[in-house]
Amino acid sequence: MIDEIGAHRGSYELAGEPDNTMCLPVCDCGWRDVRWFGADDAGRSAARERWARHALLENELRPPDWLVTKATILREQITELIRTSPPAALSLLADIDGWHGALLRDAVAAARAGGASWADIGEKLGMSRQAAHERFRGVA
Ligand SMILES: [Zn+2]
Repeated sequence: MIDEIGAHRGSYELAGEPDNTMCLPVCDCGWRDVRWFGADDAGRSAARERWARHALLENELRPPDWLVTKATILREQITELIRTSPPAALSLLADIDGWHGALLRDAVAAARAGGASWADIGEKLGMSRQAAHERFRGVA
């Protein structure tokens, strides 16, 4: 194994005749590098760097699992509140609507400041580059 970063565990796939002269960095998440490296120390070190870049980037691009779990629980509990007490659900959703919009604008501004393109932001929000730009150009 190479190492473990977040949910990513890297390893080397070995190949080459006669005695595994090449290595390919791969990850438990299914990622495979596009190029092979030598299986010597220098090659393994370069392969390890490629895997680490992948794992760090993936970790940066995804919310932590514990937060996704909390968001899922919140959504389920609000769904239940809608069923049992629609007026209470409306109050809560109005409150969430207020801070959700502000957080979304902050997140877009931070992503832009970090170098994200409008296409990157649109992809994350499930909209086109043009739609993301038109909606948020005032904040970033
Ligand atoms: Zn991975």
